[in-house]
Amino acid sequence: MRVGFKMKQHWKILLWLIAGVVVGFALQRFTDGPGTVGVRFDPQPVVVDGVPVGIRVDALEQDLLPKGRKASEGLQVGDVVKRITVNAGMDDEKGAEVTSTEALTEFLEQRGAGGVATVELVSGEKRSALVALDPQSTRARWLAPFKFIADIFMRLLKMLIMPLVVTSIVTGVAGLGGGSDFGRMGGRTFGYYATTSFLAVGLGMLLVNILQPGIGARLGISPDADFGQRSENWLDILRRMVPENAFNAFTGNGNMLQVIFFSLLFGFFITKVAEKPRNFMLDLFGSAFAVVMRMASWVMLLVPYGVFCLLVKVVGETGFDVFKPLGAYMLTVMLALIIHSCVILPLLLKVVGGVSPLKWVRAMSPALMTAFSTSSSSMTLPTTLNTLEKRGGVSNRTSSFVAPLGATVNMDGTALYECIGVVFLAQYYASAGDFVLSFSAQVTVVMAAFLASIGAAGIPSAGLVMMLTILSALKLPLEGAALLLAVDRPLDMCRTVVNVWSDTVGTAIIASKEGETGLGNGAVADST
Ligand code: ASP
Repeated sequence: MRVGFKMKQHWKILLWLIAGVVVGFALQRFTDGPGTVGVRFDPQPVVVDGVPVGIRVDALEQDLLPKGRKASEGLQVGDVVKRITVNAGMDDEKGAEVTSTEALTEFLEQRGAGGVATVELVSGEKRSALVALDPQSTRARWLAPFKFIADIFMRLLKMLIMPLVVTSIVTGVAGLGGGSDFGRMGGRTFGYYATTSFLAVGLGMLLVNILQPGIGARLGISPDADFGQRSENWLDILRRMVPENAFNAFTGNGNMLQVIFFSLLFGFFITKVAEKPRNFMLDLFGSAFAVVMRMASWVMLLVPYGVFCLLVKVVGETGFDVFKPLGAYMLTVMLALIIHSCVILPLLLKVVGGVSPLKWVRAMSPALMTAFSTSSSSMTLPTTLNTLEKRGGVSNRTSSFVAPLGATVNMDGTALYECIGVVFLAQYYASAGDFVLSFSAQVTVVMAAFLASIGAAGIPSAGLVMMLTILSALKLPLEGAALLLAVDRPLDMCRTVVNVWSDTVGTAIIASKEGETGLGNGAVADST
């Protein structure tokens, strides 16, 4: 069937992406967010000297008070609440400052809807009450269909990750023949990953030290933390790379390094067996790879609509207000991401690879927009491979080796983000409390951020989880990272774009070193 008007895929995705932001924002503005049951609060925070200090209790639902307690033992209407801890037992880290109702609902969402809470008032008194999210908000109802489609889209992408990684790496490595080609391509690929990751870490360090976003920041977390005790062994990342049971490694999307390790070896040793099994294996994996790539092209058709629903969901749930207190931190991360992706990587692409950055970014745009909306390099991999081959004109031999490895191992955006996040919190603790951010601590951050970017899985928020290990290594409290969680999604979207952009730049550079020509020309021809 002919369609009268065919728009180029990248414009189509961009249009749906923008539409998703607009619809998400409208839903966030014009529908009611999740309120609370048990205790209802005044949506306007109580402000003293221009600073929000807490939220006022508007109404209490008597029958929802914890069993056996009278209303008089709990909160009273008019009390101003400053801090809340849900189902904590002895663990005080599970609490949060609640200077706005948005902060409260976000905290409750993280804590799985809420429950019996210890509530600290501005006056310092402590009370107990039942505070839980009201599941029946109009916003939740509006967002539900978008969430449903977004989930299906993400599942389709996730479904393809494991088969793609295995078949592409095995065919990629086996196709190199195990001899000098393998050594050369492997050397170049890892050389590129290491160089760009260190450049990213260096840039992050430089900017966070110049701009110092953490000094004097108002984070609402206690600066008098106990800077103690936990430590983590960095060799663990290397150890965990080697699977104890190869088949177990294939069963979850979180074991990507193990899968890569096994697939690299498997592909390499295909080249070392007799001709008959070698040809059989090459045929088998080559055919499987071709089939999975066809499936990926099919999923590609859904990208614009998937992207739309994902953005409605993300923007609709969080809105833009959460950004305010962490503005300086976010700006530092964004600035570093922009310099790395718009200056450093294009220079490398032009000078080392001889490819026009403008042409290349245009060719790669479907992959970059998918990265932006999924926040996951791994979920973007089907699109990345498809885009590299169809629009980038990169040979299957190169892209199937470089891109799947890059999706897990090469994360420049994550690397610089780790540095900035950790040093930002360290600056806060150093300026407001007793923490000392020594030079050796900064060196630890550099090394740890590099390793964390390798070890992080290509899934949403993986970078933030890895940050916990670096904070532990510096003996900084983990509470800080929980605070950064509030603004992690938008930063994650942007750093994932940089991660994927770096993978594609690396692929182009290596392809051109392998003698491939016409890179990036495919985008002009594409009109699907
Ligand atoms: N979401 C990022 C990615 O998949 C990883 C991160 O959280 O930094 O590339």
